[in-house]
Amino acid sequence: MKIRKSHLPFILLCFFTTWFAGFNFVSGQDRDAVKIKPAEAKSLLSEGNIRFVSGNTLHPRQDADRRKELANGQHPYAVILGCSDSRISPEIVFDQGLGDLFVSREAGNVIDAHTIGSIEYAVEHIHVSLVVVLGHEKCGAIAAARDTAAAAGHIKSIMDAIGPAVKATKGQDAEATCMANIRNIVVTLRTSEPLLKHLVESGELLILGAYYELNTGIVTFLDVN
Ligand SMILES: [Zn+2]
Repeated sequence: MKIRKSHLPFILLCFFTTWFAGFNFVSGQDRDAVKIKPAEAKSLLSEGNIRFVSGNTLHPRQDADRRKELANGQHPYAVILGCSDSRISPEIVFDQGLGDLFVSREAGNVIDAHTIGSIEYAVEHIHVSLVVVLGHEKCGAIAAARDTAAAAGHIKSIMDAIGPAVKATKGQDAEATCMANIRNIVVTLRTSEPLLKHLVESGELLILGAYYELNTGIVTFLDVN
């Protein structure tokens, strides 16, 4: 069919209708994602961890249908800021699937501007309402930071980041240092300007610390004031 000048208004109408429908579709999905409140998100993680600990894992949402569904967009319900340690994969220890968790991992679960930017993206644009800083038992980064020997290469930047927790727990064990490091990071994120602090204060965002035990697989949420 030859496109005539008289068709132009119709073509433009079709274009904008399609565009607006697409916009509404995305917004609708976003609203669905917003429905998962912080407390509900925490419950989903806890229930998944109970399944993992008891050996009753479901390995949910890991099939081809889920993969195809996610090709249209992601709506994870929690951010996990974890350690790079190979023994603590968040999707495994919380028995979750593709598209459920927005994960950032660094040795010692330390943070920098890139990490905070990633969390801000998840919170601001994907409407994630829960951030969990997940430290763990026998963390190599914590042990290295407690060691007085100088670290080589860029590892030093990780040791420096854990430094305040090491100083605060002088004379105590590695677990105390790990807990202090988790708490320091939680407080840093909760007071991070300009985005996270405002969302935490309005109740839209919850930032929690958690500790993973290697032998049992149990994740314990920590009280951080
Ligand atoms: Zn670690």
